[in-house]
Amino acid sequence: MAIFAGFDLGGSGLKAGLVDGGKLLYKTQAATPPAAEGFFALVEAMWADLRKEASGPIAAAGFGLPGIFDLKTRRILQSPHTGGLDGIDIEPALMRRLGVPVRADNDANLAAYAEWRHGAGRGVENLILLTIGTGIGAGIITDGKLVRGGRGYAGEAGHMSVRPDGEACACGGTGCLETEASARAIVRRYRETAGANGPLTAEDIQGRAAAGDEAARKAIADAARYLGIGLGILINLLNPEKILLGGGVAEAGDDFLLPAAAEARRRSFPDAFRACRIERAALGNDAGLIGAAAWAAETPGRSF
Ligand SMILES: [Zn+2]
Repeated sequence: MAIFAGFDLGGSGLKAGLVDGGKLLYKTQAATPPAAEGFFALVEAMWADLRKEASGPIAAAGFGLPGIFDLKTRRILQSPHTGGLDGIDIEPALMRRLGVPVRADNDANLAAYAEWRHGAGRGVENLILLTIGTGIGAGIITDGKLVRGGRGYAGEAGHMSVRPDGEACACGGTGCLETEASARAIVRRYRETAGANGPLTAEDIQGRAAAGDEAARKAIADAARYLGIGLGILINLLNPEKILLGGGVAEAGDDFLLPAAAEARRRSFPDAFRACRIERAALGNDAGLIGAAAWAAETPGRSF
């Protein structure tokens, strides 16, 4: 099989890897420079590294990019991590530097694509991936196709409002699934009730909840409830066969997932709920990387 490269740009940096048949063969990672020139220089350096590591020619490269990626202009409109890339013709710019076909898309969409093709979503035609970390990323496969919408903006389930009077979100909305059920939401609620200072992660709070800390239990129960409201909406709207939950919070324990599933059951049609399996995602932090490579492999060069 041919070798494909995947790149995944996120809050913690730029990752790059070599993928063959859905298997990640090699991975490298570096902090992302803030400006476009630094980003392209880093991509070139990583590309040289990938070519050295690859056992043969690399057929194409896929790029998972955070923020809104416009399918018509094929430009990033709003990138939360590398503002310097906004509005740049990124695919031609990358193709010039790499010398192979390049396909870019939203990182959360590509993570869902990876789970569908190579992870816990294999074998179904209707799948949703929610990645619950600092924020909540989402990608949707319906009737065997990645849902893109008119211009590629679809699938932003993290920005469904699940609490009308909730927290203000960076997207401009209020009480988004992301502001109410993410790792950041758990930490925020715990600080509010327990008055805790100092560095804290959602995992710390999950540990405290397991040890009997009431404020920690409440923070997790609240986040689980809002996640369940979001799941109920998605189940009624899309009749998914599977909803996969990834990210650190989802991987940590059933204390979060079971109450969320119970809330979703209360808020969706019984048949639709029964037809949906809520499971953990399989590919972890590598989903974006594998998805980017798989996306490039699916239709190499088609968009050019
Ligand atoms: Zn939002």
